[in-house]
Amino acid sequence: MAGEPQDDCLFCKIVAGQVPATVVRETDTTVAFRDINPQAPTHVLVIPKAHYKDAAALAAAAPELAADVLRETQAVADEDKLDSYRIVFNTGSGAGQTVWHAHAHVLGGRGLEWPPG
Ligand code: IMP
Repeated sequence: MAGEPQDDCLFCKIVAGQVPATVVRETDTTVAFRDINPQAPTHVLVIPKAHYKDAAALAAAAPELAADVLRETQAVADEDKLDSYRIVFNTGSGAGQTVWHAHAHVLGGRGLEWPPG
């Protein structure tokens, strides 16, 4: 069922504390942790605790939760004192999504090129 934890999902395991992560923020509905393969000085993933396969599924099924995730990206940027940063939701394998649990990348702390690769 939409939103239910999935046994084979890495990020559900991080939410459950079964896989370690460097957690920087946690709310009732979200967790933010440092990416294991950082692409910038700040590279934090913000996820909903509930499982949705990507940002589109999250926004369609649980828009309030999607808003929680977006609010937390701002909180991460504030904590790392970023005045410029990028929020990325890779959605679909063609866009580079590799983990099928919705997540926002918060990237900052260096200059960022546009367009992205
Ligand atoms: P995607 O490619 O947009 O799906 O992003 C998945 C991200 O998860 C990648 O940037 C990975 O480096 C990151 N990642 C994978 N496993 C872990 C982990 O165990 N802890 C933290 N980040 C992870």
